[in-house]
Amino acid sequence: MKKIDAHAHIGDFGSWAGVDGSPEQLIAFMDEYEIEQTVLCAKDHTGNEGVAEAAARYPGRFIPLVYLNPLEGADICREKVETYVDGKGFRGIKMNPLRHAFVADDTAVDPVMEMARSRHLPVFIHSGHPPYSLPWSIALLAERFPEVKTVMIHMGHGHGVYIDAALKMAKRFPNIYLEMSGMPMGVKIRQAYEEVGHDRIMFGTDYPFHHPSVEIQKVLTCGLDEAAMQDVFYNNAKKLLGE
Ligand SMILES: [Zn+2]
Repeated sequence: MKKIDAHAHIGDFGSWAGVDGSPEQLIAFMDEYEIEQTVLCAKDHTGNEGVAEAAARYPGRFIPLVYLNPLEGADICREKVETYVDGKGFRGIKMNPLRHAFVADDTAVDPVMEMARSRHLPVFIHSGHPPYSLPWSIALLAERFPEVKTVMIHMGHGHGVYIDAALKMAKRFPNIYLEMSGMPMGVKIRQAYEEVGHDRIMFGTDYPFHHPSVEIQKVLTCGLDEAAMQDVFYNNAKKLLGE
């Protein structure tokens, strides 16, 4: 089954994570596991140039996102959006409230969301870790910017209560999309497909944090039929990214 990986990184995370993602290994995984394209971001806001280089080196394989830290200020974020989105064809924005220590719905995020709105860019936000990146806070941001497609990466991540909240918030706000990497409960992928919407749950790997074969198995065993799995694996990311 062909796939689009809706969330992966390149870069050396070091520290507690001890993982290091390279474009070469990612492409090798993509070829092995029928992943046509990967939505790619850096390890943080300092790595956008490496993502641009990887996208240029492997044409058509990566859908690059510009990684922003809203706490750098609106001017620096605007410069990065102009350089990478306007100048180099990046297709969306990535933020991680946990890594940069801002609450997802902080007003500091507003200038970024306004740029996303005016350019029709989806915004990918890490979810699942207190106190900054919980589904309720991401939902408060999505509520303020109903025109911005907001992807709740990891759909609550490792905690059942947060996963449940991700589903509830996505049901409430039609501009919230879910991505399942790192989220252990396959049954929640099916529940999201059935209750949130057929086009609002996407497959992802969070490479280099997880092996593609593990993330693929969660979709294959979640109880959806083949046509539905094709939506999760491929069609929904294709549609979100406007192809
Ligand atoms: Zn990630």
